[in-house]
Amino acid sequence: KEELNIIQGALELRSKTVEDVCTALTACYMLSSDATLDFCTMSDVMQSGFTRIPVYENERSNIVDILFVKDLAFVDPDDCTPLKTITQFYRHPVHSVFNDTKLDVMLEEFRRGKSHLAVVQRVNSEGEGDPFYQVMGIVTLEDIIEEIIKSE
Ligand code: ATP
Ligand code: ATP
Repeated sequence: KEELNIIQGALELRSKTVEDVCTALTACYMLSSDATLDFCTMSDVMQSGFTRIPVYENERSNIVDILFVKDLAFVDPDDCTPLKTITQFYRHPVHSVFNDTKLDVMLEEFRRGKSHLAVVQRVNSEGEGDPFYQVMGIVTLEDIIEEIIKSE
């Protein structure tokens, strides 16, 4: 019974896309690139409970960096270090994928690559102007695993 669910979930990786399982941009816990790593911000990050935190510039749809909570290990809140100092030191790459990427392909990319988080974007060709890339949310390895082992 349990095993069948897992097999079912694994088979569905070929048809489901990252868009089906991603966390919407509006629900993402993020930091602004001009944030200061003071006590207030650092405790907020800790309380969020997330390990990887997208960093945006000007607007939330413009993700420019990823902060890992472990990057904060040597940061003293009393120094009020600019977040930029830390992100420019570690320079974790921001990995982007298109919304129609199948979960089996995404899983393989996560397995091969170093990062376990990707930014999901789509081509928005609605409206008058030229088509543009629009960020929809984030997807992590956890979202795919959950899709495999979820029991209904
Ligand atoms: P880890 O388990 O590796 O410590 P985590 O708990 O921070 O990382 P994941 O386990 O990768 O996060 O993901 C759990 C869920 O939280 C997933 O649905 C994922 O999309 C979502 N998630 C991850 N990071 C964020 C974030 N910064 N803001 C909102 N949701 C997030
Ligand atoms: P994250 O990817 O969430 O930042 P991580 O890189 O520390 O976490 P995992 O991705 O959970 O670790 O695991 C990667 C591999 O490293 C796994 O094979 C795991 O068993 C192994 N591993 C994790 N922590 C340790 C540790 N303290 N000592 C030795 N091996 C570890």
